[in-house]
Amino acid sequence: MIPHSVSFVGLVCTILVLTAGLFAPASAAETAAATRDRAGLVPNAGASGAAAQPPLAVVLKFDDLREVDGVMPTGWERLAHYLRRTGIKGAIGIVADSLLQPTPAYLHWIKAQHAAGLIEFWFHGWDHLSYTSDGMRYNEFVRPYRDQASRVARSQHLARQKLGFDFSTFGPPGGPGKGSFNADTLRLMVRDPDLRVMLYPTRLDAAGRAAVATAAGKLTILERVHGVDLESPIGVPNFDNVRRGIEQHPERGYFILQGHPARWDTTQFSEFERIVDYLIARRAVFMTPTELAAALRRLHVPRTAISDAAAPD
Ligand SMILES: [Zn+2]
Repeated sequence: MIPHSVSFVGLVCTILVLTAGLFAPASAAETAAATRDRAGLVPNAGASGAAAQPPLAVVLKFDDLREVDGVMPTGWERLAHYLRRTGIKGAIGIVADSLLQPTPAYLHWIKAQHAAGLIEFWFHGWDHLSYTSDGMRYNEFVRPYRDQASRVARSQHLARQKLGFDFSTFGPPGGPGKGSFNADTLRLMVRDPDLRVMLYPTRLDAAGRAAVATAAGKLTILERVHGVDLESPIGVPNFDNVRRGIEQHPERGYFILQGHPARWDTTQFSEFERIVDYLIARRAVFMTPTELAAALRRLHVPRTAISDAAAPD
């Protein structure tokens, strides 16, 4: 067992140094899991340099995929084209009610990206709408357990029916209301048989650590570091912000970097490309949430070490 004095970030750093072996040349002793992992990462750009810095796992988390008045915003196609051209992996959050009456082109586009294997589509709420109760405004997943569960079930049903796959990863939608999830969300993440990864909006906290411990290996929470995102302010890619944020946390083994590509114009998209160039130079390995969670789980980290460790901030 790892002593409690080992912080979670230190632990993750160790994990990622260990996972660096996943990207090393094949050896006779290689495990089947490592072979599968590397096979999944072969078309992925990054981690190609011989720089002195250790590899850094990065999940590019793109939010809010949906059609607007029957048209998918052009930013999504620009993003998918860029990911294909560069061979970089990413993760796109679908607002699930966009699958209720989708255009054939929208469904075709999602299925084609899914089949190409570079993008993981994750569940970003049923309608991403906030609501008012007793004079207070709340975001979508701040509501009772049964209401959350029915939104998840409806969304998974539609995904299976319209896309032919379901979601493994959940990232709660934010908005103008209070919070983006509650204790019932964590209970649901522990119990739901299909959702195995949660994109946390913050650093892991006591409630998240307790949920991970209760789930006994079923649930992995990927935390986000405040202020280290693709965008600053929200909607505006910001190279300086990403570089500063990553350099301020040299101890971290992974970052979940959030952005909203539907909002980016061509100049802002160029800023995003500048960020990716920097990440590649920084030896980033771009992973989907499911891949990163699997890499973390496979290393047999004692869950108590994660659940008991103090979050640094
Ligand atoms: Zn969102």
